[in-house]
Amino acid sequence: HAKASGKNTSQFFTEEMQQRSNYKMYLKNALTKALQEGALEVYYQPIVDLHNRQIEKCEALVRWQHEGKFISPMEFIPVAEEFQLAKDLGQLVLEKTCRQLQALDNAQCRPITIAVNRSVAEFPKAKRSHEDWLEIIREQGINADRISFEITESILAPENSEFTDYLSTLKKAGCTISLDDFGTGYSSLSYLRTFPIDNLKIDRSFVSDLEEDEEALTLVSTIIAMAKALGMKTIAEGVETRGQLQLLEELGCDYIQGFFFSRPLPEDKLVDYLQAFDYDFYL
Ligand code: C2E
Ligand code: MG
Ligand code: MG
Ligand code: MG
Repeated sequence: HAKASGKNTSQFFTEEMQQRSNYKMYLKNALTKALQEGALEVYYQPIVDLHNRQIEKCEALVRWQHEGKFISPMEFIPVAEEFQLAKDLGQLVLEKTCRQLQALDNAQCRPITIAVNRSVAEFPKAKRSHEDWLEIIREQGINADRISFEITESILAPENSEFTDYLSTLKKAGCTISLDDFGTGYSSLSYLRTFPIDNLKIDRSFVSDLEEDEEALTLVSTIIAMAKALGMKTIAEGVETRGQLQLLEELGCDYIQGFFFSRPLPEDKLVDYLQAFDYDFYL
């Protein structure tokens, strides 16, 4: 009916915008409640080291099951950011991650590090200790070197120097920093010289085209060479096939993450997966 007349067209869009903003407010209220109740979960996706063929890391990925359905983080993280819920969400994910590390240690798994994702909105404002990630890690009794933070390159822009300062504090304490979705941003690469990143995560969009697209192969090979020259490790995201794995191994990629090895796992499935893991099983 949108096409019926000029008047109706504008009314149609107004209704649609109204619905969208109602849905956003609905999500905001439901998310506030979920955070208060600690109803969010964290799943963990294994990351395989191609040099020793062991799982050395996992990525923590937040999950929200609302009225029986999972809502994607791509949908609710922006809502958390817009309504000042991002800090609480970030703290919850970090606390759960530390507790998960405790559980792995108690089950005598090989010691791994777990990476949590961080957006600008989650960064603590200086001098508020309850917001300080290092304080949270310490309170949970975890060594800082077991925790990694995944950031995107926009955080490293010159105007965000307070965030880079905080990242330096985290690094001094032993945490590692990974640059997420590498290759999808539009800023200059100069920040790579000014901040010591530990790992580059090669974005899934390059990995998924690796077998069909010569240019994707060239790009990935160049990213790996650059990372090596700068003393960083590479983690390939979204590896789904054996062919992608083999190409990445030939190109000298250090770590593999993706559905080929495992989807993100709920906390009660992680110990079993880690203890049963055998690289040769996947060949
Ligand atoms: P990301 O950090 O790049 O995380 C990787 C995403 O790729 C995850 O989606 C993961 O489930 C998915 N993935 C992993 N392997 C494969 C694969 O082989 N194939 C495909 N098709 N997908 C794969 P997810 O969990 O839906 O998260 C989406 C994004 O939401 C994340 O992208 C991250 O930016 C954000 N996010 C997730 N959890 C958190 C969190 O706790 N805090 C913050 N700030 N952001 C989060
Ligand atoms: Mg990530
Ligand atoms: Mg990523
Ligand atoms: Mg990505």
